[in-house]
Amino acid sequence: MHTDIIHTLKLLKKRWKNPGAMEIGNPYQNVVGVLLSARTRDEQVLKLMPRFFRAFPTVQKLAEATPKQIETKINTIGMYRQKAKNLKGLAERVVSVYDGTIPRTLEELITLPGVGRKTASVVLVASFNTPAIAVDTHVHRVTNRLGWVKTKTPEKTEQALLKIVPDPWKKTVNQVFVKHGRYVCIQKPRCWACPVKDLCAFQKKNLEAPKNAHAILEDIEQREAFLETLREDAV
Ligand code: SF4
Repeated sequence: MHTDIIHTLKLLKKRWKNPGAMEIGNPYQNVVGVLLSARTRDEQVLKLMPRFFRAFPTVQKLAEATPKQIETKINTIGMYRQKAKNLKGLAERVVSVYDGTIPRTLEELITLPGVGRKTASVVLVASFNTPAIAVDTHVHRVTNRLGWVKTKTPEKTEQALLKIVPDPWKKTVNQVFVKHGRYVCIQKPRCWACPVKDLCAFQKKNLEAPKNAHAILEDIEQREAFLETLREDAV
C-alpha cells in the first residue's frame, strides 16, 4: 500500500507542481491567509492580502486594530465580520500568551480563535515543516475514490491518512489533492485527464474525453497560472 501511495503522490506532484494557494509568507501571514480562506475562493483572499498586510504588517498591529478596522480590509469576502472578530482574538492571544509568535504545535494552534484542525494542519506543514494532513472536502473525496480510505467524514479521513501516509509525504497530500479535486476529480470526475487512473479504485470512472477536452485543459492551466501569480504577489 505504501508503494502505491507514494507512486500516486509522485505522479500527482508532477501534475500539480505549484504549492498550495495559501502557502504564503511567514507564519503570521500564513495563518491569516488560511483563516480567511475558509469557505471562500482562494483568488478572493489572495487579492486582498497586499492591502491587508500593508495595514497590519505584524500580529501586534493586528491586535491593536478594532474589529471594524479589520472588517474594512476584508469586506470583499464571505463571513467577513466573523473572520474579523476571529482575527482580532487570534492576534490578541498570540501577543498575550505566545509573546507575539505564532505557536508551532497543533494543540496550541487550535486554541486560537477561528483555527480548527484543518487550518492548523496547513500552517504546520507550510510554516513549520511539521508532518500533518489538512483534510478538506477535496482530500476526503479523492482519497476515498482512490481506495486509500473508506470514511464518511473528513475527520475520519484525516485519522486514517495520518496512519497510512509516510511522514515525508504528508505535506504533499493536501497540496495535490486540493488541486486534483478542484480541477480533475470533480463531482463527475474527469478520469480521462487523470494521471493516476490506473492506480484508482473508483468503480464509475469517466474515461471518455468530451469534445471540448482541449479547452477544458487549457482553462485549468490558465486558472492555475493566475492563482500562482496572485499567490506570489500576496505578501
Ligand atoms: S481516476 Fe477518476 S475518480 Fe480516480 S482519482 Fe482520477 S479523476 Fe478521480
